[in-house]
Amino acid sequence: MTALRQHLIDPEVCIRCNTCEENCPVEGAIEHNEDNYVVNSDLCNYCMNCIAPCPTGAIDNWRMVNDAYSLEDQYSWDELPEQIELADITDEAGESEAASILDTAHAGTGAVPAPATASKPVINMWTREQPAKATVTGNYRITEEGTDSDIHHIVLDFGSQSFPVLEGQSIGIIPPGTDAKGKPHLVRLYSIASARDGERPGYNNLALTVKRVTFEADGETHEGVGSSYMCNLNKGDEVQVTGPFGNTFLMPNDPDANLVMICTGTGAAPFRGMTERRRRIGGNGAGKMMLFFGARSPSELPYFGPLQKVPSNLLDQELVFSRMTKLDDQQKEYVQHRMLKRSTDLANLLKDSNTYIYLCGLKGMEDGVEQSFDKICSDNGLNWSEIRQTLRSEGRYHIETY
Ligand SMILES: Cc1cc2nc3c(=O)[nH]c(=O)nc-3n(C[C@H](O)[C@H](O)[C@H](O)COP(=O)(O)OP(=O)(O)OC[C@H]3O[C@@H](n4cnc5c(N)ncnc54)[C@H](O)[C@@H]3O)c2cc1C
Repeated sequence: MTALRQHLIDPEVCIRCNTCEENCPVEGAIEHNEDNYVVNSDLCNYCMNCIAPCPTGAIDNWRMVNDAYSLEDQYSWDELPEQIELADITDEAGESEAASILDTAHAGTGAVPAPATASKPVINMWTREQPAKATVTGNYRITEEGTDSDIHHIVLDFGSQSFPVLEGQSIGIIPPGTDAKGKPHLVRLYSIASARDGERPGYNNLALTVKRVTFEADGETHEGVGSSYMCNLNKGDEVQVTGPFGNTFLMPNDPDANLVMICTGTGAAPFRGMTERRRRIGGNGAGKMMLFFGARSPSELPYFGPLQKVPSNLLDQELVFSRMTKLDDQQKEYVQHRMLKRSTDLANLLKDSNTYIYLCGLKGMEDGVEQSFDKICSDNGLNWSEIRQTLRSEGRYHIETY
């Protein structure tokens, strides 16, 4: 079934000033009677001309629907309907380009529900056919010059377009141009690295953490299409964005929940968003946050400087540098090894039914992390395969690797 992003006007907030109808360039796309102002979904072309002039914001409302609400429906409303359950539209998501990429990224845990208390995400709001247009307001390298890891912090501004996100979701970027076969480039997904209210709250923007991918082919060094496009963007450039995507890799909306976050490289992006969310909502919850973050060296660890300033009572950090710490002559230290050093703490968290575990980053990290959880459990009288099963079924174990 195909889902549609329907533009609607909130009858509770609308003051019936007629500004939207006056500013709408499409004859009949917005109309009214003595009760309500309504949007004709067959005519609305999402040009957004009506959004900024509306004095109340009533005009800026959107619902994902399988069948569009009719004009009759809208005229009869005193208030907007709730967003329909997301389960109703995942079939559509299953057909989409981004959904199949996400399925691969989440293959490590299989189908896992979102945390029970997570806020309801909006997904598939902007599509390849109707992308949002974001403006780059910042693009900074966040790993040291001269290192192999060229990772950028990129801020995108959505202006007056609605782009509601939650920590842990991703957005799609459409690189301009075509591939070798003349087809438009496929969408590339990037995790949102800021909290739901934006990189700067109230500015309708979000941040990404993008690593420039390089690879050898035909005896030459090449750069990845999407990541080099992103890393080369200048302030003021316009980017075509789809999404948001992802309805399970989400944080619980419960300040008492413990979050164990395990990542390498740009896998830190969603955890930056989750940490910032916790910091902004304040510290009246008992939930602990623990981060295991791997990179080759501090100069290649994105956000190394800012992380030093995050207070330890908010975030318990284990930064692991494989080029610097060796376990013995053969073995470098990776995140899974550091997890063993915190065995007792992790075992205690695993015993707590309000603990949520997230892995994000390189696919190669999954096995090592699983083995460490297995060892931590057996050393502490627990059974990892039983705990893993419970965590999965309760939406408390999430893997997103790429
Ligand atoms: C859910 C999700 C979230 C993600 N979040 C982030 C994030 O926050 N930050 C981030 O940096 N990335 C993230 N990614 C990865 C991102 O989507 C891209 O996959 C990544 O940036 C590489 O894309 P690219 O277009 O630069 O590379 P591509 O051009 O797609 O190339 C990818 C790889 O394909 C191979 N390849 C391509 N062309 C050739 C060729 N001609 N010959 C031989 N081999 C070739 C190479 O191995 C190359 O490295 C995420 C992915 C997923 C699924």
